[in-house]
Amino acid sequence: MTSVPTAERITENPFAHLDRERCEALGLLACPHCGGAPSITGSRNNPWRITCKSCGASSSLYDTDAEAAGAWNRRAGGNAP
Ligand SMILES: [Zn+2]
Repeated sequence: MTSVPTAERITENPFAHLDRERCEALGLLACPHCGGAPSITGSRNNPWRITCKSCGASSSLYDTDAEAAGAWNRRAGGNAP
């Protein structure tokens, strides 16, 4: 009984690693509010949204992941026009 039950890990989001890779591919910056790691959700048939995994701050909904990433990074970068 020394190892952590694997069931605990299996109940985690099975797409967590894909989410992280996608966030890195998009160059998402840390949350503008708390510095937490962002998470991106969406698909071809659902709008894209970026949410902070720590504080729950989220972007608006966008048609593409690139648009969502751009909006998130503008807020995170603090240089909105
Ligand atoms: Zn946050």
